[in-house]
Amino acid sequence: VANPPDRAKDDSSVGAKNGQLSRAGSLTVLRRTNSKSKLASSSSSRTSSIAESDSYASVDLGTDKLPPIDTPEASHVCSIRLRNILRRIQNGEVPKEDLYKNLEYAASVLESVYVDETSTVKDTTKNSIEPPTPQPKSSKERLTDEDDELSEVEPDAVPTEVRDWLALTFTRSMNNVRRRGQEKPKFRSVAHAIRAGIMVDRIYRRLSSSSTLHIPPAVLQLLKGMDDWSFDVFALNSAADGHSLKYVGYELLQKYDLVTKYKINSSMLDSFLLQLEAGYSKYKNPYHNLVHGADVTQTVHNILSQSKLAHWLTDLEVFATIVAALIHDFEHTGTTNNFHIQTGSEFALLYNDKAVLENHHICASFRIMRSEESNILNHLSREEYREFRALVIEMVLATDMSFHFQQLKNMKNLLGMPENIDKQKALSLVLHCADISHPAKDWSLHHRWTNQLLEEFFKQGDREQELGLPISPLCDREKTLVAESQIGFIDFIVDPSFTVMTEMLEKILTPLQKAARSEEAISEEVFDKSDKSKYVLSTPWADCLAINKNKWKEQAAKDAEERKRKEAEEKSKVPNSNTNNNTTKAPVPADKATPVVNCSTGKGGN
Ligand code: AMP
Ligand code: ZN
Repeated sequence: VANPPDRAKDDSSVGAKNGQLSRAGSLTVLRRTNSKSKLASSSSSRTSSIAESDSYASVDLGTDKLPPIDTPEASHVCSIRLRNILRRIQNGEVPKEDLYKNLEYAASVLESVYVDETSTVKDTTKNSIEPPTPQPKSSKERLTDEDDELSEVEPDAVPTEVRDWLALTFTRSMNNVRRRGQEKPKFRSVAHAIRAGIMVDRIYRRLSSSSTLHIPPAVLQLLKGMDDWSFDVFALNSAADGHSLKYVGYELLQKYDLVTKYKINSSMLDSFLLQLEAGYSKYKNPYHNLVHGADVTQTVHNILSQSKLAHWLTDLEVFATIVAALIHDFEHTGTTNNFHIQTGSEFALLYNDKAVLENHHICASFRIMRSEESNILNHLSREEYREFRALVIEMVLATDMSFHFQQLKNMKNLLGMPENIDKQKALSLVLHCADISHPAKDWSLHHRWTNQLLEEFFKQGDREQELGLPISPLCDREKTLVAESQIGFIDFIVDPSFTVMTEMLEKILTPLQKAARSEEAISEEVFDKSDKSKYVLSTPWADCLAINKNKWKEQAAKDAEERKRKEAEEKSKVPNSNTNNNTTKAPVPADKATPVVNCSTGKGGN
């Protein structure tokens, strides 16, 4: 066979769409250590890395031992084989029969994928679903009245400290309620959505498992679990040598084909992700660090993909959602909004005591995205940029915990109305839930996150003590009731949030299901056949929440025993415990242990 043109070095030979390796998508970028250095040409290095790393590339060119054409690994193996052949063609080493057999195999693999896609989904492109009818504005405008649902909590249900902390952190005053313009959500064509979903899922699974990506093998292995609810982000971070955020960001932008769609330059993306990681590491926080950023982003992805909510969204909305999750705690100072306000910090001054940290996360990360070396948005049109920015701002501002009760109440009201759910509100709730999701994950993950968060709170408490400020609830390392606080957090914050989010997803996705059924294209994993009228979502968080709450209850009982024992011990040490003298302090009752911080201001802390 005569040497053909050098296609392996030709960018255009490496397709960019729908599961072919995109050039921008080559993870050559991940091998770089210096974000400012220029990328080496990736095509040839990818080619050789494939050849070296895979046994299909080193054996003879027979096709007998290749996997059956309709198996998941076939296309991956096929791509490796074709790359190998390309390489060998350059040296004139490929016998014609081998070339013929391999091309035949490749064609069959492609045909099997094509047949598979078209038979799974009936061609419905001619009958795309009409967007739902717009609803009058007036009913939505009734929803913005603030209230404090904590007032419904029985006074004795939680210790005072936990109640104070809930009030301080998760409520806010009336005047901060944001209103948005009405936007009518639109469904994409159902056929398009389902086809795209199936394609993206399948293709991405292949791409993720591909040895063509320059990701350390251990990281690659762990990234395969990205769709799991209790994904172990700590394990990923260890395997990734502390770069979990970068890998999660890169992986997801590839998965949703956003790198190709928005022509994101690999070098800029690399620089952007590395700068994000640096910002998350700036204050060396035990909890609000890059692993938390990676965790929240992966959780958002889990919700979008497992519920199939992603099908309801445009590419730009998915892009904004992932970026919002990635940046949502950028340059977090490891202290709460309330601490910024009380200490009159620069940030508090800059943002007038309103959503202090959240404003900073957004502002500082848009600054990065605007910079020349990290401008991942430079191919967005003016209109796309405006929409993207508005959505990111809305979502990240809604991670201000003081907005929590208002946010839930607004969404509950929307759920009771006939109109469609505002996409920005829906996505904001998804991000908020992901942000507080660790109590709804496996105990080992939740327990570790809780310890890290409390350590961060305690450090703030230490600083407050040094500054002569009242120690904030949950920030006193000597007195905080850890187990009780977690029970309160689960009962009053996390559980209600996930309940509302579940109802919201059902409301959004039920019409999609109905439309899909009418097109005879129901995806069985998503829609429960036993109840044909309702979308049934898998809710792995529900079991985890119940299990974790029980564990904390057991822990609370043990802690109470321990406190009693210590109290008795203390008493027995003091000969005359009734007389208060100057040298002996009376033990503080456990449920009054932490000083009460005035929360009547309604100012929230994050
Ligand atoms: P963010 O600060 O954006 O990560 O929002 C999450 C907030 O939820 C934290 O700052 C805490 O206020 C709260 N939170 C998360 N996990 C816990 C937990 N285990 N116990 C108490 N509060 C928590
Ligand atoms: Zn967060």
